[in-house]
Amino acid sequence: MRDTGPVVVVGAGHAALETAAALRAAGHSRPVILVGAESEPPYARPPLSKGYLTGRVGTEELWLRPEGFFARQDVTAVLGDPVVEIDRDSDRVRLASGGRIAYGTLVLATGARPRRLSVPGADLDGVFALRSLRDARELRRALGAGGDVLVVGGGFIGLEVASAARGLGLRVTVVEAGPRLMGRAVTGTLSAHLAELHRAEGTRVLLDRELVALRGERGRVRVAELNDGTRLAADVVVVGIGVLPNTGLAAQAGLTTGNGVVVDRWLRTGDRNVYAIGDCARFPTPHAARPVRLESVQNATEQAACVAAALTGTRRPYTAVPWFWTEQCGVRVQMAGLTGQHDREVVAGSPAEGRFTVFCFRAGRLVGAESVNRSADHLITRRLLAAGGAGPAPDDVARPGFDLRRHLSPSA
Ligand SMILES: Cc1cc2nc3c(=O)[nH]c(=O)nc-3n(C[C@H](O)[C@H](O)[C@H](O)COP(=O)(O)OP(=O)(O)OC[C@H]3O[C@@H](n4cnc5c(N)ncnc54)[C@H](O)[C@@H]3O)c2cc1C
Repeated sequence: MRDTGPVVVVGAGHAALETAAALRAAGHSRPVILVGAESEPPYARPPLSKGYLTGRVGTEELWLRPEGFFARQDVTAVLGDPVVEIDRDSDRVRLASGGRIAYGTLVLATGARPRRLSVPGADLDGVFALRSLRDARELRRALGAGGDVLVVGGGFIGLEVASAARGLGLRVTVVEAGPRLMGRAVTGTLSAHLAELHRAEGTRVLLDRELVALRGERGRVRVAELNDGTRLAADVVVVGIGVLPNTGLAAQAGLTTGNGVVVDRWLRTGDRNVYAIGDCARFPTPHAARPVRLESVQNATEQAACVAAALTGTRRPYTAVPWFWTEQCGVRVQMAGLTGQHDREVVAGSPAEGRFTVFCFRAGRLVGAESVNRSADHLITRRLLAAGGAGPAPDDVARPGFDLRRHLSPSA
């Protein structure tokens, strides 16, 4: 690994900003240059599908650092000018404007882009994806005009938007192709609970149903057709069917990609001077049997810290416990660990009262937990998973009066 020359970070989003901040906090003195495709300074995306749509959160609350941060920290930010090529022979990146920047170390933090709908009418006005502040501004304006809202996809983003749109008093329908909400991300218990909450708020939730076409009038969407023949009024359509990692630059530079830029446990690509972090990176983790790509603020922030540590001489593998939150229907749901491959679930607390945790086990070991209004369970689970022990046994959790705190050892 080289320890001279500028650190150039591609992408000026969450992971990129945190890399610059962590480098400076650790006393790193090499030039640091962030190059971003968007013209806004780095901002928080989570509020875009929540409080920003309802007006509870203003634009000024989105900025990740106050004005003047870059000057004070001696970090150069080149905004609105995407990197279009990486030349690993000359250790330079080329920008859309034609400029070239030399790097000693390159950090790819290019994030992800929304997966597009591939049905007739997908390009009509009134059809939105939600990834950037610009997307959110446009969607906010469209929701402000009222009407019928169709959310395609019952995942995190879709459900958060559905909740915000209902909060604005709009008529909302969610169409999900799978048999349950957030099917890839959470347990059936949590899916069922969320479906109940959304329906109680007045959102129509259609499962096992696919959108097959959008029909418009004068270029604007008006009607959605589903695979069972249902026709729905739709003035605003929000597409939340997942994202694709931005791997094009890495692939063009000859780095290994495949559902993300492939990195090792130090977050390095096959080129020792090129790292990849955040939503665009696929990495090995002790918390899953196979390499994963995660889309969360926690992952972006902690991977940035890991790379900054490597560049400031305290190299350590990336082992952080994944965690995530979502807010829907006024409820905060928190997830710790990766629960995809669990073989047993035990529920503590009461779904009927809206306060519970689903503990997930694989071969008797605690691998994750989903908490609804039980933040203490979430925080303790994170500490238990970080400590690496087996955690409580499933039968312990199932016992009346179970108290997770008792399983914390002083070191956990
Ligand atoms: C609406 C929404 C709600 C979310 N809610 C939550 C939540 O509740 N909790 C949570 O943990 N996470 C949430 N997330 C996910 C979280 O925001 C992301 O995981 C996080 O932003 C990832 O950071 P990143 O830096 O990897 O990517 P991003 O923040 O997306 O930044 C990547 C940046 O790279 C830029 N870029 C791409 N290609 C180039 C190029 N060639 N040259 C220069 N720049 C380039 C992009 O324009 C973008 O600005 C949400 C995301 C969205 C979109």
